[in-house]
Amino acid sequence: MKKLVSAGEILVEIMAERIGQSFLEPGPLLGPYPSGAPAIFIGQAAALGQPAGLIGAVGDDDFGRLNIERLRALGADVSAIAVHEGHATGTAFVTYRADASRHFVFNIRNSASGLIETDAAATKLLAGGDHVHVMGSSLFSDRAIAVALSAIEAVKAKGGTVSFDPNIRREIMQAPGMRAALDRVLSQADIFLPSGEELFLFSSAKDEKGAVEELLARGLSCIVLKKGAAGAAYHDRHGAVASSAFAVDEVDPTGAGDCFGAAFVSFWLRGAAPAEALRIANACGALAVTRKGPMEGIFPLAAVEAFIATGKNAQ
Ligand code: ADP
Repeated sequence: MKKLVSAGEILVEIMAERIGQSFLEPGPLLGPYPSGAPAIFIGQAAALGQPAGLIGAVGDDDFGRLNIERLRALGADVSAIAVHEGHATGTAFVTYRADASRHFVFNIRNSASGLIETDAAATKLLAGGDHVHVMGSSLFSDRAIAVALSAIEAVKAKGGTVSFDPNIRREIMQAPGMRAALDRVLSQADIFLPSGEELFLFSSAKDEKGAVEELLARGLSCIVLKKGAAGAAYHDRHGAVASSAFAVDEVDPTGAGDCFGAAFVSFWLRGAAPAEALRIANACGALAVTRKGPMEGIFPLAAVEAFIATGKNAQ
Protein backbone atom coordinates (compact mmCIF):
# COMPACT_ATOMS: atom_id res chain seq x y z
CA MET A 1 0.00 0.00 0.00
CA LYS A 2 1.14 3.53 -0.72
CA LYS A 3 2.69 5.45 2.15
CA LEU A 4 1.51 8.92 3.12
CA VAL A 5 3.78 11.54 4.66
CA SER A 6 2.97 14.94 6.13
CA ALA A 7 5.15 17.52 7.87
CA GLY A 8 4.29 20.33 10.24
CA GLU A 9 2.99 21.47 13.58
CA ILE A 10 2.49 19.04 16.45
CA LEU A 11 0.78 20.51 19.49
CA VAL A 12 -1.69 19.98 22.29
CA GLU A 13 -5.03 21.72 22.27
CA ILE A 14 -6.52 23.10 25.45
CA MET A 15 -10.16 24.07 25.15
CA ALA A 16 -12.34 26.50 27.05
CA GLU A 17 -15.12 24.49 28.66
CA ARG A 18 -17.92 27.00 28.07
CA ILE A 19 -19.13 28.50 24.78
CA GLY A 20 -18.31 32.21 24.75
CA GLN A 21 -15.70 31.84 27.50
CA SER A 22 -13.07 34.58 27.33
CA PHE A 23 -9.33 34.02 27.73
CA LEU A 24 -9.10 37.47 29.36
CA GLU A 25 -10.10 35.95 32.68
CA PRO A 26 -9.52 32.58 34.39
CA GLY A 27 -12.00 29.84 33.53
CA PRO A 28 -12.38 26.06 33.30
CA LEU A 29 -10.33 24.34 30.59
CA LEU A 30 -10.42 20.87 28.98
CA GLY A 31 -7.45 18.95 27.67
CA PRO A 32 -4.63 18.59 26.82
CA TYR A 33 -5.75 16.91 23.61
CA PRO A 34 -3.17 15.76 21.03
CA SER A 35 -3.46 17.96 17.94
CA GLY A 36 -1.86 19.79 15.02
CA ALA A 37 -3.52 19.53 11.60
CA PRO A 38 -0.87 17.27 10.01
CA ALA A 39 -0.84 15.06 13.13
CA ILE A 40 -4.63 14.65 13.01
CA PHE A 41 -4.40 13.86 9.29
CA ILE A 42 -1.67 11.25 9.71
CA GLY A 43 -3.41 9.72 12.76
CA GLN A 44 -6.68 9.30 10.84
CA ALA A 45 -4.94 7.86 7.77
CA ALA A 46 -3.08 5.33 9.94
CA ALA A 47 -6.31 4.38 11.74
CA LEU A 48 -7.80 3.53 8.34
CA GLY A 49 -4.89 1.17 7.70
CA GLN A 50 -2.91 3.45 5.37
CA PRO A 51 0.85 3.45 5.98
CA ALA A 52 1.46 7.02 7.20
CA GLY A 53 4.24 8.96 8.91
CA LEU A 54 4.75 12.47 10.22
CA ILE A 55 7.74 14.84 10.13
CA GLY A 56 7.73 17.29 13.03
CA ALA A 57 9.15 18.16 16.42
CA VAL A 58 8.00 18.09 20.04
CA GLY A 59 9.60 18.96 23.35
CA ASP A 60 10.92 16.40 25.82
CA ASP A 61 7.76 16.89 27.92
CA ASP A 62 4.43 15.26 28.69
CA PHE A 63 2.67 17.09 25.83
CA GLY A 64 5.19 15.70 23.36
CA ARG A 65 4.84 12.21 24.81
CA LEU A 66 1.04 12.45 24.63
CA ASN A 67 1.26 13.19 20.90
CA ILE A 68 3.82 10.54 20.05
CA GLU A 69 1.99 7.86 22.06
CA ARG A 70 -1.37 8.71 20.46
CA LEU A 71 0.06 8.62 16.94
CA ARG A 72 1.85 5.37 17.68
CA ALA A 73 -1.33 3.84 19.09
CA LEU A 74 -3.18 4.79 15.90
CA GLY A 75 -0.52 2.95 13.89
CA ALA A 76 1.40 5.95 12.50
CA ASP A 77 5.14 6.01 11.80
CA VAL A 78 6.59 8.38 14.42
CA SER A 79 10.26 7.81 13.50
CA ALA A 80 10.61 11.33 12.03
CA ILE A 81 9.19 13.19 15.05
CA ALA A 82 12.22 14.79 16.70
CA VAL A 83 12.20 15.25 20.49
CA HIS A 84 14.00 18.43 21.62
CA GLU A 85 15.22 18.81 25.17
CA GLY A 86 14.85 22.29 26.59
CA HIS A 87 11.96 23.22 24.28
CA ALA A 88 8.26 22.96 25.04
CA THR A 89 5.78 21.20 22.79
CA GLY A 90 3.49 23.57 20.86
CA THR A 91 0.12 24.59 22.27
CA ALA A 92 -3.19 25.91 20.98
CA PHE A 93 -5.78 27.32 23.36
CA VAL A 94 -9.19 27.47 21.73
CA THR A 95 -12.49 29.01 22.77
CA TYR A 96 -15.74 28.77 20.83
CA ARG A 97 -17.84 31.87 20.32
CA ALA A 98 -21.64 31.84 20.38
CA ASP A 99 -21.71 32.15 16.55
CA ALA A 100 -19.69 28.85 16.36
CA SER A 101 -16.49 30.63 15.20
CA ARG A 102 -13.27 29.81 17.05
CA HIS A 103 -10.66 31.99 18.70
CA PHE A 104 -7.16 30.53 19.08
CA VAL A 105 -4.08 31.44 21.12
CA PHE A 106 -1.23 29.55 19.44
CA ASN A 107 2.36 28.92 20.46
CA ILE A 108 3.85 27.10 17.49
CA ARG A 109 6.70 28.98 15.83
CA ASN A 110 8.47 29.56 19.18
CA SER A 111 7.76 26.04 20.43
CA ALA A 112 9.57 22.80 19.60
CA SER A 113 7.42 22.68 16.42
CA GLY A 114 9.44 25.64 15.12
CA LEU A 115 12.54 23.41 15.08
CA ILE A 116 11.11 21.20 12.32
CA GLU A 117 13.76 20.18 9.80
CA THR A 118 14.48 17.63 7.10
CA ASP A 119 16.92 15.63 9.22
CA ALA A 120 18.18 12.08 8.56
CA ALA A 121 15.01 10.47 9.97
CA ALA A 122 12.79 12.72 7.83
CA THR A 123 14.86 11.96 4.73
CA LYS A 124 14.48 8.25 5.42
CA LEU A 125 10.72 8.55 5.91
CA LEU A 126 10.42 10.48 2.63
CA ALA A 127 12.49 7.85 0.81
CA GLY A 128 9.74 5.35 1.63
CA GLY A 129 6.89 7.81 0.94
CA ASP A 130 4.56 7.77 -2.06
CA HIS A 131 2.40 10.79 -1.30
CA VAL A 132 2.87 14.08 0.59
CA HIS A 133 -0.02 15.96 2.17
CA VAL A 134 0.59 19.64 2.96
CA MET A 135 -1.53 21.72 5.31
CA GLY A 136 -1.39 25.50 4.74
CA SER A 137 -1.13 25.92 8.51
CA SER A 138 2.14 23.96 8.38
CA LEU A 139 3.73 26.81 6.36
CA PHE A 140 4.11 28.84 9.57
CA SER A 141 7.77 29.86 9.18
CA ASP A 142 10.48 29.95 6.53
CA ARG A 143 11.95 26.84 8.07
CA ALA A 144 8.63 24.96 8.01
CA ILE A 145 8.05 26.07 4.40
CA ALA A 146 11.46 24.66 3.43
CA VAL A 147 10.57 21.31 5.00
CA ALA A 148 7.22 21.14 3.17
CA LEU A 149 8.78 22.04 -0.18
CA SER A 150 11.61 19.54 0.24
CA ALA A 151 9.09 16.82 1.12
CA ILE A 152 7.14 17.56 -2.07
CA GLU A 153 10.33 17.53 -4.11
CA ALA A 154 11.55 14.23 -2.61
CA VAL A 155 8.30 12.39 -3.23
CA LYS A 156 7.66 13.90 -6.69
CA ALA A 157 11.17 12.96 -7.78
CA LYS A 158 10.17 9.32 -7.42
CA GLY A 159 6.83 9.74 -9.19
CA GLY A 160 4.71 10.32 -6.07
CA THR A 161 1.69 12.55 -5.64
CA VAL A 162 0.72 15.58 -3.53
CA SER A 163 -2.41 16.81 -1.79
CA PHE A 164 -3.00 20.26 -0.33
CA ASP A 165 -5.47 21.56 2.26
CA PRO A 166 -5.15 25.36 2.72
CA ASN A 167 -6.35 25.03 6.36
CA ILE A 168 -5.98 28.78 6.78
CA ARG A 169 -5.22 29.82 10.37
CA ARG A 170 -4.41 33.51 10.15
CA GLU A 171 -3.08 33.58 13.72
CA ILE A 172 -0.09 31.39 12.82
CA MET A 173 0.37 32.04 9.11
CA GLN A 174 2.45 35.21 9.38
CA ALA A 175 5.64 34.04 7.63
CA PRO A 176 6.61 36.58 4.92
CA GLY A 177 6.95 33.83 2.31
CA MET A 178 3.67 32.15 3.26
CA ARG A 179 1.50 33.43 0.41
CA ALA A 180 4.07 32.47 -2.23
CA ALA A 181 4.49 29.08 -0.53
CA LEU A 182 0.72 28.41 -0.60
CA ASP A 183 0.69 29.12 -4.34
CA ARG A 184 3.78 27.01 -4.91
CA VAL A 185 2.29 24.03 -3.06
CA LEU A 186 -0.96 24.38 -5.01
CA SER A 187 0.96 24.37 -8.29
CA GLN A 188 2.52 21.02 -7.29
CA ALA A 189 -0.68 19.43 -6.01
CA ASP A 190 -2.75 16.63 -7.53
CA ILE A 191 -5.59 16.88 -4.99
CA PHE A 192 -6.84 20.21 -3.59
CA LEU A 193 -9.06 20.13 -0.49
CA PRO A 194 -10.32 23.63 0.39
CA SER A 195 -13.18 24.32 2.77
CA GLY A 196 -15.66 27.18 2.54
CA GLU A 197 -14.19 30.45 1.27
CA GLU A 198 -10.66 29.01 0.94
CA LEU A 199 -11.42 28.10 -2.68
CA PHE A 200 -11.54 31.79 -3.59
CA LEU A 201 -8.11 32.59 -2.17
CA PHE A 202 -6.62 30.79 -5.15
CA SER A 203 -8.88 31.90 -7.98
CA SER A 204 -10.02 35.14 -9.56
CA ALA A 205 -13.49 33.68 -10.22
CA LYS A 206 -16.32 34.83 -7.98
CA ASP A 207 -18.47 31.69 -8.08
CA GLU A 208 -17.73 28.06 -7.21
CA LYS A 209 -18.15 26.70 -10.75
CA GLY A 210 -15.80 29.30 -12.23
CA ALA A 211 -13.19 28.79 -9.51
CA VAL A 212 -13.26 25.01 -9.91
CA GLU A 213 -12.90 25.28 -13.70
CA GLU A 214 -10.03 27.75 -13.40
CA LEU A 215 -8.15 25.59 -10.88
CA LEU A 216 -8.67 22.33 -12.80
CA ALA A 217 -7.31 24.06 -15.92
CA ARG A 218 -4.12 24.76 -13.95
CA GLY A 219 -3.38 21.05 -13.76
CA LEU A 220 -4.96 19.72 -10.57
CA SER A 221 -6.19 16.17 -10.89
CA CYS A 222 -9.20 16.82 -8.64
CA ILE A 223 -10.73 19.32 -6.22
CA VAL A 224 -12.70 18.25 -3.16
CA LEU A 225 -14.79 20.98 -1.57
CA LYS A 226 -15.47 20.44 2.14
CA LYS A 227 -18.83 21.89 3.14
CA GLY A 228 -19.25 21.10 6.83
CA ALA A 229 -22.71 19.74 7.68
CA ALA A 230 -23.61 20.02 3.96
CA GLY A 231 -21.11 17.28 3.06
CA ALA A 232 -18.63 17.57 0.18
CA ALA A 233 -18.30 17.82 -3.58
CA TYR A 234 -15.68 16.24 -5.85
CA HIS A 235 -14.66 17.76 -9.18
CA ASP A 236 -12.35 16.58 -11.93
CA ARG A 237 -12.13 17.14 -15.69
CA HIS A 238 -14.83 14.54 -16.30
CA GLY A 239 -17.45 15.97 -13.98
CA ALA A 240 -18.62 16.28 -10.41
CA VAL A 241 -19.85 14.02 -7.61
CA ALA A 242 -21.69 15.42 -4.59
CA SER A 243 -22.03 13.56 -1.32
CA SER A 244 -24.20 14.59 1.62
CA ALA A 245 -22.95 14.56 5.19
CA PHE A 246 -23.96 12.05 7.85
CA ALA A 247 -26.36 13.40 10.47
CA VAL A 248 -24.58 13.68 13.81
CA ASP A 249 -24.66 15.90 16.87
CA GLU A 250 -21.67 18.21 16.51
CA VAL A 251 -19.85 18.85 19.79
CA ASP A 252 -16.50 20.13 18.42
CA PRO A 253 -15.74 20.91 14.75
CA THR A 254 -11.93 21.01 15.13
CA GLY A 255 -10.25 18.22 13.19
CA ALA A 256 -13.18 17.41 10.87
CA GLY A 257 -11.45 18.67 7.75
CA ASP A 258 -8.21 16.88 8.62
CA CYS A 259 -9.98 13.54 9.23
CA PHE A 260 -12.06 14.03 6.07
CA GLY A 261 -8.93 14.78 4.03
CA ALA A 262 -7.01 11.81 5.42
CA ALA A 263 -9.81 9.44 4.50
CA PHE A 264 -10.29 10.91 1.03
CA VAL A 265 -6.58 10.82 0.18
CA SER A 266 -6.12 7.30 1.60
CA PHE A 267 -8.94 5.92 -0.54
CA TRP A 268 -7.85 7.92 -3.60
CA LEU A 269 -4.42 6.30 -3.22
CA ARG A 270 -6.14 2.90 -3.07
CA GLY A 271 -7.85 3.64 -6.40
CA ALA A 272 -11.37 3.98 -4.95
CA ALA A 273 -14.06 5.66 -7.06
CA PRO A 274 -14.68 9.30 -6.02
CA ALA A 275 -18.13 8.46 -4.58
CA GLU A 276 -16.65 5.79 -2.31
CA ALA A 277 -13.73 7.95 -1.17
CA LEU A 278 -16.21 10.77 -0.45
CA ARG A 279 -18.48 8.47 1.57
CA ILE A 280 -15.65 7.28 3.83
CA ALA A 281 -14.34 10.86 4.11
CA ASN A 282 -17.77 12.23 5.06
CA ALA A 283 -18.09 9.51 7.68
CA CYS A 284 -14.67 10.31 9.19
CA GLY A 285 -15.48 14.05 9.17
CA ALA A 286 -18.83 13.40 10.85
CA LEU A 287 -17.33 11.12 13.49
CA ALA A 288 -14.63 13.72 14.19
CA VAL A 289 -17.18 16.34 15.25
CA THR A 290 -18.91 14.00 17.71
CA ARG A 291 -16.07 14.20 20.24
CA LYS A 292 -14.39 17.05 22.10
CA GLY A 293 -10.73 17.14 21.05
CA PRO A 294 -9.45 16.99 17.46
CA MET A 295 -8.14 13.41 17.57
CA GLU A 296 -10.72 11.89 19.92
CA GLY A 297 -13.10 11.21 17.03
CA ILE A 298 -10.61 9.16 15.00
CA PHE A 299 -11.81 5.59 14.56
CA PRO A 300 -10.41 2.52 12.79
CA LEU A 301 -11.82 1.47 9.42
CA ALA A 302 -14.10 -1.25 10.86
CA ALA A 303 -15.81 1.29 13.15
CA VAL A 304 -16.14 3.79 10.30
CA GLU A 305 -17.72 1.11 8.08
CA ALA A 306 -20.11 0.14 10.88
CA PHE A 307 -21.06 3.81 11.26
CA ILE A 308 -21.75 4.04 7.51
CA ALA A 309 -23.83 0.86 7.58
CA THR A 310 -25.98 1.85 10.55
CA GLY A 311 -25.74 5.64 10.46
CA LYS A 312 -25.06 5.37 14.16
CA ASN A 313 -22.21 6.99 16.05
CA ALA A 314 -19.19 4.80 16.75
CA GLN A 315 -18.81 4.05 20.46
P1 ADP B 1 -12.76 22.10 7.83
O1 ADP B 1 -12.70 21.46 9.19
O2 ADP B 1 -11.52 21.89 7.01
O3 ADP B 1 -13.23 23.53 7.87
P2 ADP B 1 -15.44 21.16 7.22
O4 ADP B 1 -15.96 21.92 8.37
O5 ADP B 1 -16.08 21.39 5.89
O6 ADP B 1 -13.87 21.29 7.01
O7 ADP B 1 -15.60 19.61 7.59
C1 ADP B 1 -15.01 18.61 6.82
C2 ADP B 1 -15.99 17.48 6.59
O8 ADP B 1 -16.38 16.92 7.85
C3 ADP B 1 -17.28 17.89 5.90
O9 ADP B 1 -17.11 17.92 4.49
C4 ADP B 1 -18.23 16.80 6.38
O10 ADP B 1 -18.02 15.61 5.66
C5 ADP B 1 -17.76 16.56 7.82
N1 ADP B 1 -18.49 17.41 8.77
C6 ADP B 1 -18.09 18.58 9.31
N2 ADP B 1 -19.03 19.09 10.14
C7 ADP B 1 -20.05 18.20 10.14
C8 ADP B 1 -21.33 18.11 10.80
N3 ADP B 1 -21.74 19.07 11.64
N4 ADP B 1 -22.10 17.04 10.56
C9 ADP B 1 -21.71 16.06 9.72
N5 ADP B 1 -20.53 16.07 9.07
C10 ADP B 1 -19.70 17.11 9.26
